[in-house]
Parts: sequence; structure tokens; C-alpha cells
Amino acid sequence: MIKYRLACKGCEMQFDSWFASSSEYEKLKKRKFLICHNCNSTKVEKTLMAPQLINTKLKSEIKFDTAKYKKIKKTIKSYQKFIKNNFEFVGDNFAHEARSIHYNNKKKSKGIYGSASNQDIKELKEEGIDTQVVPWIEEKDN
Ligand SMILES: [Zn+2]
Repeated sequence: MIKYRLACKGCEMQFDSWFASSSEYEKLKKRKFLICHNCNSTKVEKTLMAPQLINTKLKSEIKFDTAKYKKIKKTIKSYQKFIKNNFEFVGDNFAHEARSIHYNNKKKSKGIYGSASNQDIKELKEEGIDTQVVPWIEEKDN
């Protein structure tokens, strides 16, 4: 599932919506199924989200049963594709990059993603830096 922030060009209203995948969003948009709740305009576009994302080493932390895992893996793959296309990879520098964005108002056109330890995530949270943890599958796990 992917959460997009949608913005209406008719009335400037913004709202969040969930889609099965980025291609589902495109499909609904093409068919004009995306309609503003407020003014019924179909000029609804997704805005560029800029949350900070962290990939965790999924494999070592969570064990799935195989059938479930395969299903989830597919969803995660579509997530990953979206993230790779829309976020800048900062690797292990995630905590540092997130702080420089937060404290120095460093402007980035894209959100960032990378890896961080649970300790980093906890500290960022305590500092009021909003992060989102997404499950991640390394390509070699295919
Ligand atoms: Zn509207």
C-alpha cells in the first residue's frame, strides 16, 4: 500500500489517500476516478511527499512464513520502486542527513531514504524529527 497526499487544483484542498500501488494511482487518475471531496473536481494530483524514510534490515528482524512473505514481498517491491524513483538514497548517513534537513532547514527537492539503527530512530524521534520505517528487501534476496 502507498499513501499519497493528494492536492486538488480546483480548491487547493489536500487529503491523504491509500493506493495498492503507484500504478493503481495512475490508473484511477487516468479514468478520472480521483475526485475532490470538497469541490468534485477531477483535477486531483499527488503532491511530492517528503517524509523521511528509513529502511530497516527486514530479514534479521522479522521472520515471515513463506506464503505470507511472498505476498508481502510483492507489495514491498512496489514500495521500493516508488521510493527509489522519488527519494534520494543517503545510505548509512540517514540520521545525519535527517538532522541537517531538520536543523539547518536544508532544502531538498526529494525526500531521503537510507538505513539507521533502532537507536538512531529513537533519538531522531526524541528530537522531534519525523521518520517513517519501511520494510526493505535487499535485491540479493530474490
Ligand atoms: Zn477541490
